Amino acid sequence: MDRTLFNDEHKAFRTAFKQFLVREVVPHQARWRDEGQVDREIWRKAGAQGFLCPWLDEKYGGAGADFLYSVIIMEELARAYESGFAMILHSDIIVPYLYSFGNEEQKQKWLPGCASGEIVTALAMTEPGTGSDLAALATTAVKQGDEWVINGAKTFISNGQLCDLVVVAAKTDPDPKNAHKGISLFVVEANRKGFTKGKRLHKMGMDSQDTSELFFEDCRIPAGNLLGAEGGGFMMLMQKLQQERLCVAIGAVTAAEQVLEDTIKYTKERTAFGKPISKFQNTQFKLVECLAKCEVGRAFIDKVVSEHVAGKYLVKECSIAKFWTTDMAQEVIDTCLQFFGGYGYMLEYPVTRAFMDARVQRIYAGTNEIMKVIVAKQIGL
Ligand SMILES: Cc1cc2nc3c(=O)[nH]c(=O)nc-3n(C[C@H](O)[C@H](O)[C@H](O)COP(=O)(O)OP(=O)(O)OC[C@H]3O[C@@H](n4cnc5c(N)ncnc54)[C@H](O)[C@@H]3O)c2cc1C
Repeated sequence: MDRTLFNDEHKAFRTAFKQFLVREVVPHQARWRDEGQVDREIWRKAGAQGFLCPWLDEKYGGAGADFLYSVIIMEELARAYESGFAMILHSDIIVPYLYSFGNEEQKQKWLPGCASGEIVTALAMTEPGTGSDLAALATTAVKQGDEWVINGAKTFISNGQLCDLVVVAAKTDPDPKNAHKGISLFVVEANRKGFTKGKRLHKMGMDSQDTSELFFEDCRIPAGNLLGAEGGGFMMLMQKLQQERLCVAIGAVTAAEQVLEDTIKYTKERTAFGKPISKFQNTQFKLVECLAKCEVGRAFIDKVVSEHVAGKYLVKECSIAKFWTTDMAQEVIDTCLQFFGGYGYMLEYPVTRAFMDARVQRIYAGTNEIMKVIVAKQIGL
């Protein structure tokens, strides 16, 4: 199906970003996976070329572009099987918190660095004891004079090693009766005393993503590092999680499409019993089923994207998109992997890594079960 979302300028941007990936990312992917993180320098290179936070106002170092430019970046990263360079998390998930809830002083201090790649961001909500149940988080922030003192531990934090700035969710009111209203957001610079980066975590996929533990021990930050209103953290998170879930869904559909495309090619080349394996009816039926899932997913996701760009607040649709597309991508990639036979179990094959990378999409950005909890509430159940 023809896609109608993008104009000629978007298409030129896609070409430029693809070239950037071919030149600056793809040649390093294997080494980044071995090293467990991407090069710090790639962030500056991406910033220098305008690929970080393209939507940001020009006065803060962005291009004032629409969300579709970010969508293009998401799609091309997925097409390049790049799962470690978390520029979407930075540009379209974390920096929007600074932009939407920061005061002018905070914006001027941090946003230009976010756009240039001088500042890499992380978002620290999840803790060893709680993830889905955000209101139960145990990290505390206590006001002492003109400082906040933060204590607690976070885990599974993307960009955990490379981050220069962390948006941290902490309890400013420990009273369990105020569980939701007791959460505030803080901006912690990585060089603050009392803040330490823990170990990089070994994962089943996304090998070049530096997902880590973070620790706060009497970490003192200025009062001015509170983001938005005290006690407003939960509401801010709920507001911004829609776009995060949409970003995950866009990546999932595109990854499924890319794997399917590569699999169709492979089945035409690989022979068994004297003919290409694409000629077996089982191969054809399975691949056609995969294609149907991708096309249905694509039609839905493009519709949600266009409504999101139009400014609609789509809690139900973004939640459905997140769980349906990530479940779908996992099914499609698993089906495709089977056609690679033994090679589908070898890590040097992109389909194998796509299989490993896809699994987490059903877990992070709110688990798929939590998505259904949200949708159930939305339809009054
Ligand atoms: C690679 C990776 C990167 C991540 N990056 C970040 C990051 O940058 N920042 C960050 O803050 N977090 C991050 N996370 C954490 C992620 O968001 C959490 O793991 C996720 O929200 C689930 O929380 P949990 O692990 O504590 O699981 P739990 O909340 O303990 O859930 C366990 C199981 O119980 C189910 N469950 C829980 N509550 C309900 C319910 N009400 N109804 C039905 N089922 C329920 C869940 O669906 C799940 O299946 C990352 C995780 C991974 C793996």
